[in-house]
Amino acid sequence: MKAKTKKHIDLLDGESYQIRKIKDNRPYFEEVTLKSGNGYFLSQKCTEKYQPEHTYTFNLECTKCKHITDVEVKSEDLYQYHQGKYIQDAFPYISQATRGLMLDGVCHKCWDKMFPDED
Ligand SMILES: [Zn+2]
Repeated sequence: MKAKTKKHIDLLDGESYQIRKIKDNRPYFEEVTLKSGNGYFLSQKCTEKYQPEHTYTFNLECTKCKHITDVEVKSEDLYQYHQGKYIQDAFPYISQATRGLMLDGVCHKCWDKMFPDED
């Protein structure tokens, strides 16, 4: 079990990182150059993990209440997101409320306060 912590991932346009893929039962690394990356979560602290699969866990701090939510995404899905896939298609296992936090930096509790349901 190997984990490495970075201050943040520095995923910006034009930068590259490696993803691990498997072809014919052989793992190999593919260098990915980013085309996009404008979600709030990309600027947040994250931890990269390689086992049992390559994932990134982002520590997302709500810009309003400072509550931190940990969100784990697969590196392959992060790659798809950077290729222009919509966040809901790239990370279908992440709740809608959390995806909002990933994009806007506002947790669902704060959203509810800003836009209360009309009764
Ligand atoms: Zn909040």
